[in-house]
Amino acid sequence: MDKILKNLRLSKRVDGDRKVVTVKNCKIGGGFVVIAGPCSIESEDQLCETADAVKKSGADILRGGVFKPRTSPYDFQGLGLVGLKILKKAAEQTGLPVITEVTDPRNVEWASEYVDILQVGARNMSNFPLLKEMGKTKKPILIKRGMNSTISEWLNSAEYVLNEGNPDVILCERGIRTFEPLTRNTMDLSGIAVAKRLTNLPVIADPSHATGIRDLVEIMSLASVAVGADGLMIEVHRNPEEAKSDKDQTLTCGQFDTLIKKARTLRKLVEGFYEDL
Ligand code: PEP
Ligand code: MN
Repeated sequence: MDKILKNLRLSKRVDGDRKVVTVKNCKIGGGFVVIAGPCSIESEDQLCETADAVKKSGADILRGGVFKPRTSPYDFQGLGLVGLKILKKAAEQTGLPVITEVTDPRNVEWASEYVDILQVGARNMSNFPLLKEMGKTKKPILIKRGMNSTISEWLNSAEYVLNEGNPDVILCERGIRTFEPLTRNTMDLSGIAVAKRLTNLPVIADPSHATGIRDLVEIMSLASVAVGADGLMIEVHRNPEEAKSDKDQTLTCGQFDTLIKKARTLRKLVEGFYEDL
């Protein structure tokens, strides 16, 4: 681990410090936050209904993708600007801060006007021009770990954003590609623990993309809480079977309600186990 530390200038944890990223009245780091919402924004109706439900269950932040990085060019690519307008409306209606992924450096500046947090997706974790552009904004940046990236590479991506003068970075473990085909990715729980030891940045977990399987999302969320994750990102849809992307890993609003209650209960227990979370 010493080798990684040499490259960490701005995110390195010194004397047990912990960074807190604040959006609206939500604090990320040093507590437990839950980000929830659909993989993709499909319509105003779909997002607002899902947003109301996750808010009622106690979600802190609303998610929704509008620039979708899809494996096939023939799959739904996202609503772009129309989707951003819907996301902004849902933010106003619910009062929740909102997050979306931006995939192209040319879209960072104007898209950031619509959201509270910008997401760097797994496929773009090593897109250095994108990271630099994100570093020039005043919005917090959530960096997903690339599916083919080491922990060290992930932390260096955070340094890219920090080095441009943006101090608000959140890390997100979302599973890596291994030889195991039964799950969509392999969730690297130790990656969460390592990132929290080496850096002062908040580290959250995304068991939806890490597993790709609805039935595994709750248990891997609880496992993430147990290793000290500062929060969760969960895909939720009012009707997962109708979701235009990632339906197999998407929870119903009812399943999310159960998950968030269990996660918060476990978090309280874990806070009693480890002083230094
Ligand atoms: C997403 O959050 O919908 C997404 C595409 O995630 P990832 O970049 O982790 O695949
Ligand atoms: Mn998704």
